[in-house]
Amino acid sequence: MTMNNDNEMARVISVNWHAPGIFELALERDDIRFMPGDCTALFGADNQASRPYSFASGVDETALRFLIRRMEGGEVSPYLAERQPGDRVRISPPFGWFRPGQSGEGAPSVFIATGTGIAPFFSYLRTWPDSPPLRVLYGVRKRADAIDLEWLRARCDVRLAVSREDAEDAFRGRVTDLLPDVPLGPEIHYYLCGLDAMIDQTTVWLEERGIDIAHIHRECFFNAES
Ligand SMILES: Cc1cc2nc3c(=O)[nH]c(=O)nc-3n(C[C@H](O)[C@H](O)[C@H](O)COP(=O)(O)OP(=O)(O)OC[C@H]3O[C@@H](n4cnc5c(N)ncnc54)[C@H](O)[C@@H]3O)c2cc1C
Repeated sequence: MTMNNDNEMARVISVNWHAPGIFELALERDDIRFMPGDCTALFGADNQASRPYSFASGVDETALRFLIRRMEGGEVSPYLAERQPGDRVRISPPFGWFRPGQSGEGAPSVFIATGTGIAPFFSYLRTWPDSPPLRVLYGVRKRADAIDLEWLRARCDVRLAVSREDAEDAFRGRVTDLLPDVPLGPEIHYYLCGLDAMIDQTTVWLEERGIDIAHIHRECFFNAES
């Protein structure tokens, strides 16, 4: 696709806020095909600077959906947050290697996410709702940041960790504190997505318990130092 091709400028359907600072951007799909776990580059105001975002929608949905944290002072996410229905956003062809639930021919899986790192797992569950993972560990800062939690809980065994406040239905702490709840087994594949610190700690924890690194699949969205 080229800049002259209308397909590269996707029309905005909606921007819906899930929580302060976290929104869902829905774009018209046109002919874009992707796999759960794929990303696309979405561009900012100048149509030059871009950032990768994971698809959160199922592969057969008519809209492309993204779960995005608005980064104060950021070049792209605040721009996307301010889009109106009918605006157009430049979008790259899908790309990526993270494939939640897709390694090992029907092998059981565990998903572990922080924040908007839940996006590729939503894409998986919206695509294959009848093949849930054994467990989902989901870490957020505030309880309201947990996106579509009831929907998620209706489909799989979710353990929620909220780090910055108490919540009745969640563990108070970091998602890595919940690692003892993770099913362990040589046949299981583990899919980690979100903050680098969670991914690094979880990888070490799993390897110390004998999990083969080839069964630990990782997608880093954010670096804690940045
Ligand atoms: C493969 C991949 C997939 C991704 N998918 C998603 C997704 O689905 N949803 C999503 O929300 N993001 C996703 N991201 C992150 C996204 O690409 C951007 O990095 C993010 O939106 C910030 O871009 P920006 O242009 O708004 O901010 P930038 O201009 O890049 O940075 C803005 C400011 O925020 C600071 N900052 C960066 N990270 C953090 C942090 N963790 N905490 C505090 N401050 C920080 C920077 O230092 C800078 O000062 C993904 C990243 C990768 C690599």
